[in-house]
Amino acid sequence: MEDQKHTAESIMELINSLPIMERIKLHDLYKGVQTASSDMEEYLTEQRFSGGRVCPICGGTHVQRNGKRKNGAQKFICKDCGKTFSIRKNTIFNGTRKSLSVWREYMSCMAEGLTIDQSAERCGITHYTSFIWRHKILDALGECSRDTELSGIVEADETFMPLSFKGDRSLFSKGEVERQARVRGGENHKRGLSDELVCIPCAIDRKGNAVSRVAKLGKCSTKAVREVLGGHVNHEATLCTDEEASYRKFAKENGNALVQIKGGKGTVKGIYHIQHLNAYHSNLKNFIGQFKGISSKYLNNYLVWNNEVERRKNGFAEKAVAVLQQVASAIFEETCSALFLRPAVPLLVKNQS
Ligand SMILES: [Zn+2]
Repeated sequence: MEDQKHTAESIMELINSLPIMERIKLHDLYKGVQTASSDMEEYLTEQRFSGGRVCPICGGTHVQRNGKRKNGAQKFICKDCGKTFSIRKNTIFNGTRKSLSVWREYMSCMAEGLTIDQSAERCGITHYTSFIWRHKILDALGECSRDTELSGIVEADETFMPLSFKGDRSLFSKGEVERQARVRGGENHKRGLSDELVCIPCAIDRKGNAVSRVAKLGKCSTKAVREVLGGHVNHEATLCTDEEASYRKFAKENGNALVQIKGGKGTVKGIYHIQHLNAYHSNLKNFIGQFKGISSKYLNNYLVWNNEVERRKNGFAEKAVAVLQQVASAIFEETCSALFLRPAVPLLVKNQS
């Protein structure tokens, strides 16, 4: 037999072929592996320099080792721009004084869906640090999920969440929403959906991939569906929805075969139904509910996070771990102040459409 070297992909294939209970067992074993800080450092170095040593500041390729920091982290110097940097530069770990093993533990807490305080306690960090880390990780996760592609049978429908300004004292945010409400006029009264609700179009496929995002206030629209699902649904996919016209229009535009489920949410047409999505919606509400009032400002981050927790629940744990690793090595330049300066309600669709 040929001496074959395993890759992450080949092992993944192997894992995916295991029965579900074996996969859950494997996941628990994996969780027990403590990742040392130096391992994370090494992992980051491998990821970052996989295509050769490139400077994260100027993009130059003349990068050399340049001694070590007090904490043992390897320093590099770029001969093109003359700057020194560590492997943490422009990642979510930039500027952190904590060991990367603490971050690794923190990501595990998130994958398990723990709250800010529960995670802070387990990792020995403050509530504030826990908040910042959570959103740094989720922002990076959001970036990584920009290329999520749904294929095969894709179930789609929107859900609604109450508008919340929790923790946001800016008057501008309230004015912003009131203006939106005026522009929209009385259209929403038709279905009794008030502007106090944010509309979140969602779609999932049968491989555990999901897309969801805050689109607008009140009733759903074709534009809202297009803004959220556009670019994420493979043209070959079969879209499964209820009878709403906005999905019919989207499917036509996107070139998808469409199966609209008539006669209520429980209806099944063979393999075509939206029951996975109904479960996704109710899980999402439970997930959001446990955090006791999430500000609309951060809702998108929680949607992204819920998608990873969902994957684990549905036996796609390996995929969730892989995503978190991707987050660790992703280029990330956002600062803490940018985190707080985002809009109070991140709407994609600004007025009646
Ligand atoms: Zn440089």
